[in-house]
Amino acid sequence: MESIWSVARFLEKTLHYRLVKVPRDGFIEFTCTHCGECCREGPIITVFDVARIARGLHTTFTDVIDRYCSVECVEARNWVCPIVRLRKGAKYCIFHDDSAMRCRIHDFKPLTCKLYPIKVLDPASDWIWIDCSCEGVGSGERVQIPNNLIDQYIAEVTAHYLALAMMYILGYRGKECVLKAAELIGVYRPGLDSLKSTVLKSLVFSSQH
Ligand code: SF4
Repeated sequence: MESIWSVARFLEKTLHYRLVKVPRDGFIEFTCTHCGECCREGPIITVFDVARIARGLHTTFTDVIDRYCSVECVEARNWVCPIVRLRKGAKYCIFHDDSAMRCRIHDFKPLTCKLYPIKVLDPASDWIWIDCSCEGVGSGERVQIPNNLIDQYIAEVTAHYLALAMMYILGYRGKECVLKAAELIGVYRPGLDSLKSTVLKSLVFSSQH
């Protein structure tokens, strides 16, 4: 468990420099100013996020991976962990609407985006971290830290990296490792995915003719 979370922690620390620790049962003052700063890079996501995006966009799991994600390999303690990340568009994340300065997939955006500016670096801790480089932190309504969402995030990140580690041990690498992990978790069914893909393609074809 600890080594699984060390990957997530390492990545978050690499990406965010102004983290301030606050208790999980505390409050946060935050208003999104839609500055777009947190959407500059594509976020690191889990296979659960991929499945939700696929459902939201009415497409397949593999289509989301192929069109909107990149799978990078990062050296962790004893393994090379595949990292699933939303791709970057011209300036921001691929799902960022640069003229409206809004997220195009707001209703089913990744959990990490829903939680922002909250960061979870230690699943066992009573503390969470706030990214104070976000200009919306410290202004607006005082709201309770969303502990249910944090619990869901911890459960999903843990299951995601645990499944990836198991598939890595079994010899899978890169995108294949991600697909096998998603299959193990149950958010991706290869047969159903390819059937859905065929149906979607035939619907597009018949609407064009
Ligand atoms: S998914 Fe939406 S909220 Fe998350 S980084 Fe991309 S544009 Fe921003």
